[in-house]
Amino acid sequence: MTGKVVLMGAGPGDIGLLTVKAMETLRRADSIVYDRLVDSSLLAARKPQCKLIYVGKEPSHHPIPQEEIEQILVNEARNGGLVVRLKAGDPYVFGRGGEEGEVLYDAGIPFEVIPGITSAIGGLVYAGIPVTHRDYASSFHVITGHLKKGHDPLDWQSLARLEGTLVFLMGMTNLQAICEKLIRNGRSPETSVAVVEWASRSHQRSVVGDLTSIHEIVQKKGIHNPALIVVGDVVKLRPKLNFFESLPLFQQKILVPRARAGESKLARKIEELGGKAVEYPQIAVQEQPLPKSDVTFSNLRSYDTLIFMSSESVQYFFENLLAKDKDSRDLQHLHIVAVGIDVLKCLQGKGIQADSFCPRRSVQLLLDLQGEAWQRGMHILLVGSEELVHTFAEQLTRHAYVTPLPLYKEVRTTCKSFNLAEYNAICFGSSTTVQNLLTVLTKEEQQVLAQKKLFSIGQMTSQSIRDNGFTVHQEAKKPSIDEVIQLLIDDVKGAVLA
Ligand code: SAH
Repeated sequence: MTGKVVLMGAGPGDIGLLTVKAMETLRRADSIVYDRLVDSSLLAARKPQCKLIYVGKEPSHHPIPQEEIEQILVNEARNGGLVVRLKAGDPYVFGRGGEEGEVLYDAGIPFEVIPGITSAIGGLVYAGIPVTHRDYASSFHVITGHLKKGHDPLDWQSLARLEGTLVFLMGMTNLQAICEKLIRNGRSPETSVAVVEWASRSHQRSVVGDLTSIHEIVQKKGIHNPALIVVGDVVKLRPKLNFFESLPLFQQKILVPRARAGESKLARKIEELGGKAVEYPQIAVQEQPLPKSDVTFSNLRSYDTLIFMSSESVQYFFENLLAKDKDSRDLQHLHIVAVGIDVLKCLQGKGIQADSFCPRRSVQLLLDLQGEAWQRGMHILLVGSEELVHTFAEQLTRHAYVTPLPLYKEVRTTCKSFNLAEYNAICFGSSTTVQNLLTVLTKEEQQVLAQKKLFSIGQMTSQSIRDNGFTVHQEAKKPSIDEVIQLLIDDVKGAVLA
């Protein structure tokens, strides 16, 4: 069956600016086709089996032709499943989203659009610039700065005459020409101009000048694409409205070594305060089946209920069952529970309709749905990864007899190389994080680490850092995330004052 495509706006950069609807859809996607300006941390929300297709171009490389991207969308959708076409900002603001929608329509592929916050508005906000203002601008105009050689479709006379804010996207290579054309057509040379690079990211940079000076300022500072050019008096409001660049950890790139998979509170806090937190090593989970000989099905009759915790567990369960010369007929007496929609589908693929369904991996939800039956002394066989079955069995045994049946292991592997030199600080939240980081760093990287400011959450962590031959820059007096954050803030303040 043909799948569906969702043309989705990712917002200007700060990943928190993704809409709730977009995030929910991203989590369910079977494939994600994404661009260069999309922050890669958004992709972390995908499910493990989701396919990633990168169609962005680096500035100096050939872009993937638009027709090819459209073909990818059509093909992916025809394979079935949910395809997300993730674009920076809003998909219909210079994003060629309209063209992609037309192609999908012509190909008979169902599609939906989830709007995003365009950089032309949201990006300005992060530079302290309101796109309209009662006293300064009663309209705004979003214009492409990508001027085609030969014929220029823009009516510069009209543009120069507009009193509203002008926002140019894709205009950096033509900045000088844009300013000259506006002046030549009557705009005052003193009109304020701001250029905002990588808006709403922690490494955002912005500069201000006027129509005559901005080009030179941009050159001096080495400001490049992606950047927004804002022309108009609203730029003057920056000193009062520039909340983002005033955040205490703005422009700080901080490495947060990981202890385990999952979101780190420390990293989230750093981002809330304007910094960029990178969690490392990135922990990827792979499934590795346990040996078939370890699984016995001789006592299947003694169970009443069979719970599948993951789609992998369904796969491995049937492989094991068949290997023992049994099949689904041996499960007839069992009440089968599917945890998660993937499990439900996977069971259907095996010709089995689950007797009940629990939408999420939540002990409470399982109890709410099944609890009454279990009180009558049910015996449950719980199938999943080693980790899943043991945690769930532990919590469920208070309510029923539970036998965990681990069929595979989740193997953690590290991936993605990174440049340690780019970081302002490294924050260790436990001794495990010290060990985890050191096991993945090369000798050269360890030398770079020795030059960095190492922050520690407490004595044990500091001891671990020292035992490995490194120096602690600052140690929290109390082992709490807030204390570490305060140390970071004080350190930045100190560096500014010095
Ligand atoms: N659909 C996008 C625009 C795509 S065109 C949107 O709605 O924002 C690409 C241009 O958008 C870039 O050349 C740059 O001018 C601008 N842009 C997008 N994201 C940006 C960001 N975070 N900071 C500065 N400019 C950005």
